[in-house]
Amino acid sequence: MTSARLPFSHFESLPTSKTLRKAEPVNGPYSVTATLSSLDEILEWQEGRIEFDYGYYRFVDNPLLCRIQDGLKTHYQLRHCWVYASLKTAAMELMDYLLLTKPQMTLKLISDFKAGDPFSLEGSLCGLKTVFAAAGPDDFSALLPFSEAKDELLVINVRHALEFLENEVDFLIKAKSLRIPILVISDRFPEKPWPVGMINYWVLPLNSEQQSIQGGAILSNMDRQMAELKGLRMQRGPVLSSRNAAYFLGEIEAESKAWKDAIIDRLCVLEKARYGFLFPSGMQSITTLLTLVRRPGKAQIIAVGHLYTDTYALLTYAKQRTGDVENIFIGVDEMDQLPAAINEQTAAIITETITNPLNDVPDLEAIVAIAKKHKIPVIVDNTFATPLHCNPLELGVDFVLHSTTKYFSGKNDHAGGAVLLNDSVVAQTIANYQSQWGVELSSLESSILWQRLEDFEVRMERFQNNALQVAEFLQRHPGIEKLYFHNFPSHRSYEVSQRILTGSGSVMSFTLKRPGMEGLRKFYDAPLQHILKAPSLGSNQTIVCPYTLLAHYHEPDEALEELGLPRYLIRLSVGCEMDINPVIESLDQALG
Ligand code: PLP
Repeated sequence: MTSARLPFSHFESLPTSKTLRKAEPVNGPYSVTATLSSLDEILEWQEGRIEFDYGYYRFVDNPLLCRIQDGLKTHYQLRHCWVYASLKTAAMELMDYLLLTKPQMTLKLISDFKAGDPFSLEGSLCGLKTVFAAAGPDDFSALLPFSEAKDELLVINVRHALEFLENEVDFLIKAKSLRIPILVISDRFPEKPWPVGMINYWVLPLNSEQQSIQGGAILSNMDRQMAELKGLRMQRGPVLSSRNAAYFLGEIEAESKAWKDAIIDRLCVLEKARYGFLFPSGMQSITTLLTLVRRPGKAQIIAVGHLYTDTYALLTYAKQRTGDVENIFIGVDEMDQLPAAINEQTAAIITETITNPLNDVPDLEAIVAIAKKHKIPVIVDNTFATPLHCNPLELGVDFVLHSTTKYFSGKNDHAGGAVLLNDSVVAQTIANYQSQWGVELSSLESSILWQRLEDFEVRMERFQNNALQVAEFLQRHPGIEKLYFHNFPSHRSYEVSQRILTGSGSVMSFTLKRPGMEGLRKFYDAPLQHILKAPSLGSNQTIVCPYTLLAHYHEPDEALEELGLPRYLIRLSVGCEMDINPVIESLDQALG
């Protein structure tokens, strides 16, 4: 163990006002998920009566992240702190959020960083398509006068922020008196707490000593705004890697070898792609692609099939800076509606090779044919099928993405995402975006991912064989009401799946004959000895969760009905165990 790389010593997590329930991480300190042992516990959590100390990594902050956040809060005596994949990611998330709440906002920037300096935001701000005025600290009178009427945001991005604030109090008071929010983006930790009353948000880097390991934090006393930012971080996924957190806490060393290029080469071969990019999470891959394909006036996304809950949420609830357009949702069996749905505002079509959780298989050939006619890019989330069972780029799709957290990793202890494509111009745009905003996979995560990829093909073969055995067992079992597994003729996607996919993947869903919550409780609370009870999928060990209760708990019955999503649906991600029989026996016992 080395000493902490953060300039203060308080690293205990703060007590929470809610009852904190212990949840067991499934694979050590960097687990991306934790065991949720009973249905009642899940219901209590959904009702807001308890909090888990561990959980799916985007929803429950890993304790290592909490220690950094709590340490920063204590040190600077502020109420809120969230950590991000990098300083620039933190800055982007905050500015993006502020611009969303006030789309007409004018950003006024004071910066003494030269263009090209790793801490300079100037080039990045251009990407935000925001009117801004830049000025060196000697010349910031160019930013005056401030105007209360025209939503303005003052961003101070200077080397010695505290000194600057102390020297320029009069200038700041001018902004403050007109209630212009002030955001300071600093290249280092200020030694002492800053004037809290003056500054609304402070964005700090966690990587003051070593550039290769990135991390950033937003600190503030703004209650509502920081709560909303946390919600956005869950959905969009720019969260700090727990390994980076351990590095900043002095618990592990940095890797000297970078595996990113090797991983990208490997994924490009698997997906038959020319270019690849790695991200801090699957959701951050999706967020990046959606950001890059949308433009003002052309920001509408058409989703085909019932997609993963956070992708769905990004499309349903998330405001966009490009203007609020209604996105369009089309069922996999409503493909005849796709041509008419496309209009001059359509920016892209998004779908999943096998949808989560209903196991539908959209007709990618038909989607691509229609999209090409209208010159609309197609984005496909290939997490469920993996490149072993489908290569969407070969079918004419423009972008393939993955949550590498799942099958590529297999061990539930890595978080990441990937985007693969063939277009060199767009690849350059993604490369620029990544370096401008620091949304890249940590080198510590890439080292683990590289190891996990070693036996990917061998594991996938076993995943596939095991899944077929488990699906056959479930199909025959009298306790099962309906099985959602596209590889069986009883599934509505069977015909398309046989045409588009070369294998099934290993995720399936089912409902029980025993009705309602009681039926589900009997199943889920059974010992299920050889199965992990946790949210995630693509795990080497079979993993199960009450999907709708976890992902769509607050949705009313009518909404679920419209989505075709049974409230008591169980999602099972069959593992690649050498012997699948104990898993089948556990299921048999639980189904009673
Ligand atoms: N895509 C699919 C199909 C998923 O199931 C998930 C998460 O479960 C994601 C994307 C998001 O991945 P991550 O949790 O790594 O952000």
